[in-house]
Amino acid sequence: MREICFIITRDERILRIYTGSATRVPDSQSRWNAIWTYRYEIREIVHTHPGGLLRFSKEDLTTMEAVESATGLTYQWSLVTESGYLYRDSLYGEDILVTNEGNAWWINFLRDLSFGTNHKQPTTKTIREVVMT
Ligand SMILES: [Zn+2]
Repeated sequence: MREICFIITRDERILRIYTGSATRVPDSQSRWNAIWTYRYEIREIVHTHPGGLLRFSKEDLTTMEAVESATGLTYQWSLVTESGYLYRDSLYGEDILVTNEGNAWWINFLRDLSFGTNHKQPTTKTIREVVMT
């Protein structure tokens, strides 16, 4: 298992894929350059936590703040584990659990790359829940 980061555009394309170790995707100049170059086209920046922690780490939050401060834009920051998918609503600072994953066509690909092709399938519902405020 390894951490994977996808940068997703507003028209739902995977702009970039970054691979990391079991615990992190290292900071890279090329990722910063891609974010800067495509800053107006990016909608979502998603990464996985192979350890299963469905909560942003302190390092995640620092990165999110640095990117938004540098670009002057806000993005959907998301986290994916084997069984969960959540994003931070930057307007309210809440983490929202996505229970209808059908809108993210790339999510199984992301889980395959991060957790292997035998990862368990999450249960899906059609509502959204606020998990942390
Ligand atoms: Zn993280």
